[in-house]
Amino acid sequence: MKNKKIGIMGGTFDPIHTGHLVVANEVLNFYGLEEIIFIPAGDPPHKKGTMAGSFDRYIMTEMAVLSNHKFKVSDIEIKKEGKSYTLNTLTELTEKYPDAEFYFITGTDAVIELPSWREPQEVLKLCRFVAVSRPGISMDEAAVKISEINKMYNSSIELFQAPMLKISSTDIRQRFKTGKSAKYLLPESVEQYIIKNNLYGSNDLR
Ligand code: NAP
Repeated sequence: MKNKKIGIMGGTFDPIHTGHLVVANEVLNFYGLEEIIFIPAGDPPHKKGTMAGSFDRYIMTEMAVLSNHKFKVSDIEIKKEGKSYTLNTLTELTEKYPDAEFYFITGTDAVIELPSWREPQEVLKLCRFVAVSRPGISMDEAAVKISEINKMYNSSIELFQAPMLKISSTDIRQRFKTGKSAKYLLPESVEQYIIKNNLYGSNDLR
């Protein structure tokens, strides 16, 4: 009998922003989760590279969740050599927390790519999958794609309508690069960390 509900917030977090934090809080409330573990992806299998290194993304994630005792951060993916696969991460977490039911939370655009992940069928057996709506993809469009995936794997991925904060890591990186303010889109501590460490070409903002 699984008696602990744990959310797993998977993403690159390059950088983490207020949109991620709001989504996590909404999912926590809606499903009555005990806690959410943010897991910054180390070396995402499907990407050529991230803009900030895994250590910086991990530190920024730690800073962002500091004030919420229900939000934790795991370095399980960033400390691994080589590619990080969700299957391996969930298998490890299942061993570590045998009593937990996991809710894997990520953006719909990542979920739509699920068929290209390593052993999606097995991944879906290890957790409840929550696809969070993102600005730019309509709920109808996302619902159609997710229902196709559910048919393909006989799964029950759930589509979660989060408050549509139009915040994206891509836009935030672009702002730092072009010297525009990203204030209030991300925690102030994370903003300061980015500027202090010249991440995303933020030199002009000092
Ligand atoms: P990503 O690039 O970080 O994000 C994809 C989209 O989802 C972006 O629009 C992003 O917005 C949004 N997003 C990211 N994390 C979110 C979250 N937790 N809640 C709501 N929206 C979120 O994501 P990714 O790197 O493709 O991967 C997401 C997760 O899937 C990671 O845990 C990754 O390890 C896993 N994954 C596994 C495999 C595999 O095992 N083979 C393959 C692909 C992905 P922002 O840009 O604003 O963050």
